[in-house]
Amino acid sequence: MSYIDTHSHLYPEYYPLNFDEAVIRAINADVTKIILPCVSSETVSDLFLASEKYPNHLFPLIGLHPTDVKENYLSELALLEKYISNPTVVGIGEIGIDLYHDKTFVDLQIKAFETQIQWALDLQLPMSIHVRDGFSEAFQVIKQFNHQPLSGVFHCFSGGIQEAKWLIERGFYLGITGVVTFKKSKLQELVKEVGLDHLVLETDAPFLAPDPYRGKQNESSYIPLIAKKLAEIFEISTDEVMKITTQNAEKVFPKIV
Ligand SMILES: [Zn+2]
Repeated sequence: MSYIDTHSHLYPEYYPLNFDEAVIRAINADVTKIILPCVSSETVSDLFLASEKYPNHLFPLIGLHPTDVKENYLSELALLEKYISNPTVVGIGEIGIDLYHDKTFVDLQIKAFETQIQWALDLQLPMSIHVRDGFSEAFQVIKQFNHQPLSGVFHCFSGGIQEAKWLIERGFYLGITGVVTFKKSKLQELVKEVGLDHLVLETDAPFLAPDPYRGKQNESSYIPLIAKKLAEIFEISTDEVMKITTQNAEKVFPKIV
């Protein structure tokens, strides 16, 4: 058994100088499967280039990131929709609501989120969902799909325990990044309350490097540092963390198994 990084931008656009080295380092660190989230139509060729080069290790998603939703979102969605049925695509993402820096396009973000959830349902694919400062808007959207078989990960989970419980009741998993390794991170208490059965590991590389690399370029090979922190929190071995989080990730993303 090995680790799965359920959210990493490990493709040449983000690693222009050391993409292959970063993939090899991840594999050598026992992080053998890595889910690659899509950001916009501009990301697609890069994603397929990466996943065709390492088909047993890198698995692409297709989706329009909420901060990339603007006036042209319908043409963006039309471009992306062409790729969602590609057999190598393992899910829809990253999609969601982000009102942290800018609320200008909140209505369009909601529409784009609805459309992409419907793609996931039509193709029975899981989702990688990005929500930052927009949980109430995101939950309103998800409620419209009540009683339908939604599945996925709330990546880089930043909500509180109430939001976490709401999502777990609906069968979603929470993606835990290197933020959990930061001193005084509130995430430590939250994961303990939620329990390992509802968590998956992710780096969100190249962002959010765990301690002791905080502030530097992150990469998928740092997944074991996140596992080590969870092992401390749950007072179990890192092997046990690997086993449970990998099983969870395989449940959410069955096409990578
Ligand atoms: Zn991301």
